[in-house]
Amino acid sequence: AAAAAAPAAAAGDGAAPASSEDAYSAAEASMLQKVIRTGLITNKNDIEVQRADPSSPLYSVKSFEALNLRPELLKGVYAMGFNAPSKIQEMALPILLADPPQNLIAQSQSGTGKTAAFVLAMLSRVDITKNYPQVLCLSPTYELALQTGDVAQRMAQYCPDIRIKYAVRGEEMARGAKLDEHIIIGTPGKVLDWGIKFRFFDIKKISVFVLDEADVMISLQGHQDQSIRIHKMVPKSCQMLFFSATYNGEVMNFAEAIVSNPVIIKLKREEESLDNIKQYYVECMSEESKYQAISNIYGVITIGQAIIFCHTKRTASWLANKMIADGHSVALLSGELTVEQRISVLDRFRDGKEKILITTNVLSRGIDVEQVTIVVNFDLPVDQTGSADCETYLHRIGRTGRFGKAGIAINLVDGRRSHAVLKQIIDHFGRKINRLDVEDADEIE
Ligand code: ADP
Repeated sequence: AAAAAAPAAAAGDGAAPASSEDAYSAAEASMLQKVIRTGLITNKNDIEVQRADPSSPLYSVKSFEALNLRPELLKGVYAMGFNAPSKIQEMALPILLADPPQNLIAQSQSGTGKTAAFVLAMLSRVDITKNYPQVLCLSPTYELALQTGDVAQRMAQYCPDIRIKYAVRGEEMARGAKLDEHIIIGTPGKVLDWGIKFRFFDIKKISVFVLDEADVMISLQGHQDQSIRIHKMVPKSCQMLFFSATYNGEVMNFAEAIVSNPVIIKLKREEESLDNIKQYYVECMSEESKYQAISNIYGVITIGQAIIFCHTKRTASWLANKMIADGHSVALLSGELTVEQRISVLDRFRDGKEKILITTNVLSRGIDVEQVTIVVNFDLPVDQTGSADCETYLHRIGRTGRFGKAGIAINLVDGRRSHAVLKQIIDHFGRKINRLDVEDADEIE
């Protein structure tokens, strides 16, 4: 999951979002990030492991074969294009599949392979000779539940006998009906209704309980309490699995309420850096001249893709309309779009159908589009007091990893205040930001 409060939204070990608006974007950013991501995020940090008995052995696996999975399941894993376990999977999978089962709390940033890991565990724990729900997975939202279900369905493509049921809005059951699916993936409210109010399944027969996106769960009103109520009903012997992108005090308390005697594994988010980024600023007189600067840069941008950040959605749509009127092909990621529309905007951009994506800060949380070479700050990121928001600046333009692609950042500056903000950014990062004359945009390369 992506968002944390304020600028750190997409960041790793930050705080959970506070306001409900933030909460909404936490769930949504997490969702969009899953959709837009093309593969694993690599991370060269070491995994940190905590457990009650440090002398008990810990295993890590370097291949999926080493897990002794059902052949059909292994085939499904390979069909998804997974060759070897990701860093977090190397450590998590042996714990997830251990006999007797072990409880696990795992934290790592979105995109590191947590979902794939617990989905594999869910599938391999199913006893297909028993026609009732044995595995219960709680997701914060409808969309995230479906996303997880989709991974499960693909991984189980050669195991047609494993059945999955979604307990989400829109799914209705007749009174007195009983579920015969093996796995339930759902949101807390619906699962409470189905398991406790209507008894569509016997919650006492659940042997694997997964809580996904715990930090997003916390950010949504009522979800944490509902999850705890469900948890109270599952048998003590049930394997408890808890996943989160961030791990602050609040998430830790939540984890403790759900998971007893866990192995805790954490993979710190890799810091973003400005190492491979060339930073420039362009002197502009007004919004109009900012537009002129963008138009001049546009010619150069065609070598790759660009994201343009605006401070408000008004500016973002003004800019998009102006560029479209001038015959440019741009994508606008705006707050008015439905989730489906946003996904389609991002899909098109990822496929290169548009070269430029215009967006505001809130919407871009947690979205990193690898192939973007140029980031334009149409407006510099500022906090409520109007000071430089350096964390957001880093998120927008920074890259992780030694092999992070080189990039270009262009900051449009107009007037004294934005000059002051630029200076704060320069001082904060201790890096030069060179002036660029856009009349002579060749300088960029
Ligand atoms: P998280 O749950 O931590 O956000 P996911 O499990 O969704 O991470 O994995 C992120 C992306 O990486 C997905 O596109 C997934 O298909 C892919 N992926 C997961 N595990 C592997 C693996 N072992 N090898 C290659 N790709 C993987």
